[in-house]
Amino acid sequence: MSKNKKSTSLCPICNAPRNEAYRPFCSKRCADIDLNRWLTGQYAIPVEEEEPDEPIEDQKLN
Ligand SMILES: [Zn+2]
Repeated sequence: MSKNKKSTSLCPICNAPRNEAYRPFCSKRCADIDLNRWLTGQYAIPVEEEEPDEPIEDQKLN
């Protein structure tokens, strides 16, 4: 209870105290992990469907 400076800044990967040199991460390793997640699509990125299974226009021909 000595410091009351905002909330503790933690590494989003491993929750360790972040390093100013690699913020918002704690190390280059965690920065690489985060980058890898982006590259491998592990984040929830909406994917556009290029080929729909059935034509939607048919439903309007009623
Ligand atoms: Zn980390």
